[in-house]
Amino acid sequence: MSVLIDLTGRNVGKLKVIRRDGFEVHGGGKQAYWACRCDCGRWTRVPGFNLRKQHTLSCGCLNSDVQQARARLEGTRRQPCKDKRGRGKGRRAPWLT
Ligand SMILES: [Zn+2]
Repeated sequence: MSVLIDLTGRNVGKLKVIRRDGFEVHGGGKQAYWACRCDCGRWTRVPGFNLRKQHTLSCGCLNSDVQQARARLEGTRRQPCKDKRGRGKGRRAPWLT
């Protein structure tokens, strides 16, 4: 049984919880949804669980920031792979055999 926690006015990441926005049933349990306004000005509807666990921190604009940052990271990581090749010879990852 889940107890409804009032999240109104809370800030979660870039989101500010404005008001409750109905219920949806998930896996046999009722899930409260919250209307949130993102820092970027967009509105989004987030299940209370995701807000409490901080799974959802934006309307989605944060995700694209994260993805861009990750793409940049991978871009810089890709280069040293060249010399890793020689060193890794003969050492096989056990999950690949
Ligand atoms: Zn946003």
